[in-house]
Amino acid sequence: MSHQNAQEVLESIFGYNQFRGPQQDVVEHLAQGGDALVLMPTGGGKSLCYQIPALLRPGLAIVVSPLIALMQNQVEALQQLGVEAAFLNSSLQADEAYQLQQRILSGDIKILYVAPERLMLSSFLSLLDEVQAHIGLALFAIDEAHCVSQWGHDFRPEYRQLTILHERFPDVPRVALTATADAPTRAEIIERLNLEHARQFISSFDRPNIRYRIVLKNNARQQLEQFLETEHPNDAGIVYCLSRRKVDETAAWLQSRGWNALPYHAGLDAATREKHQRQFLREEGIIMVATIAFGMGIDKPNVRFVAHLDLPKSMESYYQETGRAGRDGLQANAWMAYGLGDVVSMRQMLDSGDAPEERKRVERQKLDALLGFCEATGCRHQGILRYFGEAHPGDCAQCDNCLTPPDTWNATEAARMALSCVYRTGQRFGTGHLIDILIGKVTPQVERFNHQQVSTFGIGKQYSVAQWSSVFRQLAASGLLEVDIAAYGGLRLTEAARPVLRGECEVWQRQDPTPAGNRMSKAER
Ligand code: ADP
Repeated sequence: MSHQNAQEVLESIFGYNQFRGPQQDVVEHLAQGGDALVLMPTGGGKSLCYQIPALLRPGLAIVVSPLIALMQNQVEALQQLGVEAAFLNSSLQADEAYQLQQRILSGDIKILYVAPERLMLSSFLSLLDEVQAHIGLALFAIDEAHCVSQWGHDFRPEYRQLTILHERFPDVPRVALTATADAPTRAEIIERLNLEHARQFISSFDRPNIRYRIVLKNNARQQLEQFLETEHPNDAGIVYCLSRRKVDETAAWLQSRGWNALPYHAGLDAATREKHQRQFLREEGIIMVATIAFGMGIDKPNVRFVAHLDLPKSMESYYQETGRAGRDGLQANAWMAYGLGDVVSMRQMLDSGDAPEERKRVERQKLDALLGFCEATGCRHQGILRYFGEAHPGDCAQCDNCLTPPDTWNATEAARMALSCVYRTGQRFGTGHLIDILIGKVTPQVERFNHQQVSTFGIGKQYSVAQWSSVFRQLAASGLLEVDIAAYGGLRLTEAARPVLRGECEVWQRQDPTPAGNRMSKAER
């Protein structure tokens, strides 16, 4: 094989005419023995980056991959192309593993996919010594390299030990690949895997064929169904929910409404999960209702939409999850329903978790970036790429904000009323009660706390309940208000609220679409 060049292998084995993006550079760099870090969006074509040099170089190539399903798919695909590929993981019986070992040692296997925990076994490392001595090692590819990052939800402790490869086999080139693009994760990969000297190949993370849209949640199920009916009556797609229970309920509800929906989450037994995944991949038009347990390594090119009924955890998660749509390059939708409840429950989940304070702080920042993105009025493609440190000209003509630019209004006065209402009532009540006070509604709770006496009672009658919800949501999303766990989710002021209360700065907010007749007049904005 070594007499062939990269282009020939691309054509003769993979059947493609041209390399995509940085593929050719990566392939040549690795083929010549260099180390590389490859950042490429999902669907960008990372696999070829190590598969072709694996075939060009003498010896066995080792691919570290975190998921059994992912390995199986890749190996099957390679075998169909006539490449001698195999995988070694916990799904193999002892005798199968033994036979495979014999084939490896006789030089029969060209590309071997291995689970990280397997790789670390001293028996496997000894096998690699032997391979190195007799056949040679072509390269090490570390797929889904962001699994080394303890901040990400795909964290795999065994990935941390992969530096052993470099220590034991310093002359074998290594390539780490990921679709997670943010700078801290990238730095962590480089540090954890000792890739300081590796060449970095960073592709554009833009997904121009994805139409991003964030709608205000009022009745999420109905909104979802309307979205499906009008835009995806027969398409395959993924609906993400935060909890297993919500996945089950949503899937059951969609089924009862005649949709071809299946649930997927870590609480289902392995056989069911596998069955549903297989159906989703092989049959047409299936809607997978899932937690984030579903998705990594799912290579289905024609997923036409990804819908979020709950907020993802961060911009990275949003990008990854929505990125599973439209891998074939054709138009696809990323649709999300979002509301104040999401802000509150995400903040609560974060604060009440038992993660160390430092980690919570990082996660809070990540959530804040996502909330800011939800409320942003600018181009979504631009917003996403900005987060990943990449420039985009904006005006994508492909997102909600570019297609129907939202109005903004000067909400300074409303914000001050809302914030001082929080303050005057002791910073421990939720929005429902605060809004009752602002619009001057006497409820049993208002009476119980004697809140008709506070100075903010009835000062906000000119705005509707919906408008006040919008104001509170945006104040919480932008970090002027935070959720107090000890007070059962009551809102309290943050430092950032002070300048607003003192009248030192203005607050501009997005004008939510409101039912006709209920809209603020131009003069009020
Ligand atoms: P990633 O791992 O980056 O998500 P894959 O390696 O799975 O992406 O590739 C995504 C899809 O693009 C696959 O179906 C693959 O066969 C296809 N592909 C990759 N490189 C090329 C190329 N140079 N020309 C045409 N198709 C390609």
